[in-house]
Amino acid sequence: MGIKFLRILFCVATFLITFMTEAKIIETVTIENIIPLIDDDTWLLVDLDNTTFEGKQALGHTEWFYDKAHAKMRNGMTLEEATRECYPEWIEVQKICPVKPVEEAFIPALVLMKQRGIVIMGLTHRQPSLVDSTLRQVASLGLNFLDSAPVKTTFAVPSETPTMYIQGILFTGEFNKKGEIFVRFLSIINQQPKKIVFIDDKRSHVEEVEMALMGLGIEYIGVHYTAIEHVEKVYSPEIAEFQHKFLNKILSNDGALLLMQHGLE
Ligand SMILES: [Mg+2]
Repeated sequence: MGIKFLRILFCVATFLITFMTEAKIIETVTIENIIPLIDDDTWLLVDLDNTTFEGKQALGHTEWFYDKAHAKMRNGMTLEEATRECYPEWIEVQKICPVKPVEEAFIPALVLMKQRGIVIMGLTHRQPSLVDSTLRQVASLGLNFLDSAPVKTTFAVPSETPTMYIQGILFTGEFNKKGEIFVRFLSIINQQPKKIVFIDDKRSHVEEVEMALMGLGIEYIGVHYTAIEHVEKVYSPEIAEFQHKFLNKILSNDGALLLMQHGLE
């Protein structure tokens, strides 16, 4: 065997080992199983909707949004068209929509990791038009990503549709790929983490980030986080519709008294 052949063999083996050890995807229902994956060199990326939090009520829950979008798709719209149609109302409702953690232990676990000095940032498909509402929702949970963010500046990542990095959260927009925007973000801030753990309730998103990071020499663990599938359902179309009737409506005194007497607020 010639030296040249051995060299090629070595290169191929190194290449394969790199890819085999660089990335993996796991599925878990609880943050408890994610904590041991995070060491001092890890950057933790967390999705927001249905991972860190979910809507507290039917109206404004992501399922409400998908329900409306799917109804439009059944009438012949593409996913992108339906999303564009539904987004203005989604923005309006998020302005007043409170949220709650999907898993109670999630936020305290993030806070503990922040105290350990772990780099933690948000990675969401939300559009920049939702920045104010999102920051309010995150703060309402006693959380902020700014202290643990890799950089504290605010900037847009060049892309076909608007993006924004602000307060430690990267808003990629609905129509961009999280992985592609994140890789561009890394080159803008000129930093290269040794290891990344990314938590998202959608498997396709953790796979997409895996693809984007491939070959960059970053160890990657994608966590398909399924807690949302195991909690009590918040969304019901009937309740959302009823709640929608009260949006921007001034109740009469009689109506208000009636609701108050029945303990509704
Ligand atoms: Mg999500």
